[in-house]
Amino acid sequence: MSSSTEFVGAIDQGTTSTRFLIFDKTGVPVASHQIEFDQIYPKPGWMEHDPVEILDTVKTCISKACEQFIKAGNEISFIKAIGITNQRETTVVWNTKTGKPLHNAIVWSDARTTHTVAVLKAKPGADQVQEKTGLPISTYFAGVKLRWLLDNVKEVQAAADEGILAFGTIDSWLLYNLTGGPNGGLHITDSTNGSRTMFLNIRTLEYDQSLIKFFGVEKVKLPTVVSSSEVYGRMPDGVLRGVPIAGCLGDQSAALVGHCAFKPGVAKNTYGTGCFLLYNTGEQPVISKNGLLTTVAYRFKGQKPVYALEGSIAVAGSAVKWLRDGLGLIKEAGETGELAAKVEDSAGVVFVTAFSGLFAPYWKDDARGTIVGITQYTKKEHIVRATLEATCFQTKAILDAMNKDSGNPLTELKVDGGMTDNDVCMQLQSDILGIEVDRPQMREVTALGSAIAAGLAVGVWKSFDELKVINTQGRTRFKPSITEEARASRFKLWERAVERAVGWQV
Ligand code: ADP
Repeated sequence: MSSSTEFVGAIDQGTTSTRFLIFDKTGVPVASHQIEFDQIYPKPGWMEHDPVEILDTVKTCISKACEQFIKAGNEISFIKAIGITNQRETTVVWNTKTGKPLHNAIVWSDARTTHTVAVLKAKPGADQVQEKTGLPISTYFAGVKLRWLLDNVKEVQAAADEGILAFGTIDSWLLYNLTGGPNGGLHITDSTNGSRTMFLNIRTLEYDQSLIKFFGVEKVKLPTVVSSSEVYGRMPDGVLRGVPIAGCLGDQSAALVGHCAFKPGVAKNTYGTGCFLLYNTGEQPVISKNGLLTTVAYRFKGQKPVYALEGSIAVAGSAVKWLRDGLGLIKEAGETGELAAKVEDSAGVVFVTAFSGLFAPYWKDDARGTIVGITQYTKKEHIVRATLEATCFQTKAILDAMNKDSGNPLTELKVDGGMTDNDVCMQLQSDILGIEVDRPQMREVTALGSAIAAGLAVGVWKSFDELKVINTQGRTRFKPSITEEARASRFKLWERAVERAVGWQV
């Protein structure tokens, strides 16, 4: 048992699973519980979650992890605060009178809004949106999903007309319910999640009335925007009754904070269901000229917001999941490393995993998954290797764009997320990028980030300086092992394959 009496809890509500972890002051998780939940695919390209199921998994994870924590000889009073981190952009609408959802949550990677995007792009004012929000109009963002719900689900528009329609991303949904739901629950979102709605001005971090009008959401109750690190409220009941909820960050911002990437010029890449590279640009938002997003990295109470350039890849670990569930090529994700290592290279096979379009830096909603270069010689090992490479190549495309936007080439990349368990994939990544890849031993970096935000708010840590000791043990550095020419020719092949994937969906 740890002799410490100061711990911080973290709810990590991801795309495929929910976790609750309890960290000590050195960033070591001492108790945790994880539950996978249902992925609902009503039509090709559509993806939903049941918001009530998500809430239930959060509550169960909290109880189970707390049981473990107590069994290890600790007391609940040692938990000084909890933080929340969440899959971003996933959109929930609920009735403010009953607190009940009016539709399943539309998941961030869902591509049903292609038509909505086309309509919005044709509207006057569309050309101002990226300058104001830092984001291109795309199926990805929550505001577009809300517009679709209003246009396509009668109950949602009716609730808006009645003035009882609440909108939020998963953070808002959880914060609302964990602070009382229809009985006085808070309707809030933090700046990092808020900045992904397309309703927020990226500079002021306040709602922009011209954007609200552009999206036609004047009648919808939007969450109040708060900082990422402050006491929002206290748990009203359950095992954590009275514990302050004091941190909230969208998952990618949380990972940046979890890596303690507080200095401008530091970048991290998280390889989960999707893959997200964030590059800290400091107190100034940089509007990309090369297909990247401008996003809020974090905003701690009383401090200036810190911004990041972001490159998002829609499909990363989910392509590995597809090898397992869609094709039955593997029984578990972990096998992909072994299989990929059995062959020297992918033998000319390139797999553009554009299942629901390509995100950064391409932004092609009409791209679809494409495997090229198959011959009689091709074995499943080559397909598996090409699947891992797909994420690595997209990361390179993003990094090249980032280097152009920042003018300051990156020299190393901090990584985390499920796919980074795969040593072969991380070596491929270092080879394809030509820079070092730095992987911590404790990879629950996203959860750690939200714990840091909450801990800073209640004084468990008093400054960024105190965080220097966090998660420093057992790091692995992958170093490039191929020539510049080999790197360039492999990337060229990737780019040719991308050309074939684009424009497939008509
Ligand atoms: P999320 O937080 O988005 O739910 P995680 O960070 O938990 O995602 O990562 C899970 C993803 O990582 C899954 O899609 C899974 O297929 C992939 N994954 C897990 N282990 C490996 C591995 N050893 N090699 C490749 N992919 C893996």
